[in-house]
Amino acid sequence: MLLCPVRDCRLALVREARRVVCARGHSFDVARSGYVNLLQPQDRRSKQPGDTVAALAARRRLHDGGATGPLLNAIAEMLGASAGDMVLDAGCGDGFYLGSLARRTGFSAHGVDISIPAVDAAARRYPKCEWIVANADRFVPFADGSFSIVLSITARMNASEFRRVLRENGRLLVAVPAPEDLIELRGAGRDRVARTVETFARAFTLANQRRVTTAADLDAAAVHDVLHSIYRPIRSTPAEAMQLTFSLDLLLFRAV
Ligand SMILES: [Zn+2]
Repeated sequence: MLLCPVRDCRLALVREARRVVCARGHSFDVARSGYVNLLQPQDRRSKQPGDTVAALAARRRLHDGGATGPLLNAIAEMLGASAGDMVLDAGCGDGFYLGSLARRTGFSAHGVDISIPAVDAAARRYPKCEWIVANADRFVPFADGSFSIVLSITARMNASEFRRVLRENGRLLVAVPAPEDLIELRGAGRDRVARTVETFARAFTLANQRRVTTAADLDAAAVHDVLHSIYRPIRSTPAEAMQLTFSLDLLLFRAV
């Protein structure tokens, strides 16, 4: 099901002990933690703030502290996935959403992200899922129709590739930050729903839509963690204990 990411190759990759290899001999390492690195030289880009080990650890502490639990529950409810589903999370980050949903549901889980430290963390935490480092903006390295569900949770979107790897009648769940998300730290954001629906209009129809909002009382260390994980906060450190709003717009699409 995995495809070779080399331009104009795209042959199936066969898993060996410590690598995956295509019939043309393109070979990619399987890391000690279990993920496969399919990055191409042209995919290397400047580091993003969210990619640092410190930012990953900060986000993980937020998840472990329960702040994002209501968001996870809302996603699980809207998705209604079952054990037979084949699920791709494109832009999976540290794997919290995909890994947690897979543990609840028992579906076959596959996560892709461009960040090596994020995918390494995901592979260590959720070893039963498949984790791939790749640039999904360019190419989602899976065969056509591989999945019954694609997730895109506050990640970059690639409508044509999401559609290609989905089966007929497959579902796509997109989560984008709602205007109130972290409003205490970065002010009101814009409403992204209309533009997101437009992004997917050619290949998908909108089946369901919901805004989920939760507030969490965080101590100073946790607020500091959030500041580390976002761009352009309007408040500067040092952080103090405060209540923060987490809010996502969830959009469920059906492939047409
Ligand atoms: Zn190849």
